Amino acid sequence: MSQENGERSIIPRKELQERILEYDLAELELLLVWLKTTVKERKQAVSQVPIPLKKGREVVKTLESDKTTYRLEMVKCGKKKCKCTKGKLHGPYWYAYHWNGKKLISTYIGKTLPEPDEIALNSTESQSTQPNPDPHPIADP
Ligand SMILES: [Zn+2]
Repeated sequence: MSQENGERSIIPRKELQERILEYDLAELELLLVWLKTTVKERKQAVSQVPIPLKKGREVVKTLESDKTTYRLEMVKCGKKKCKCTKGKLHGPYWYAYHWNGKKLISTYIGKTLPEPDEIALNSTESQSTQPNPDPHPIADP
């Protein structure tokens, strides 16, 4: 019945700008605030690119921090005769992921996730204070 249904045409920006200029100042200010919020949200959505999962791994838990994502993962060690090839994965282990602007940096944390203030400290010195209890340590490329 309605021919407009499902049709979404974008108004050319010039035309839109001319229409917007017909608004009064108060209306324009509201529009500006709305536009700023919208742009900010869009940018955030772009920066939140999903973190890829390495082959054979399973995600147990995910924690979002300010710029870092902490993920608890079950992993494969890569040894041919290991139990993990039959689905008995190792872990779970915590990994920290963050984008350095261009690429994703992943850092192995360990079996337990440190307290939030410790995480902040650990990010400056990349030393692990925990001994690795795993019989075959996982090389993270
Ligand atoms: Zn294994």
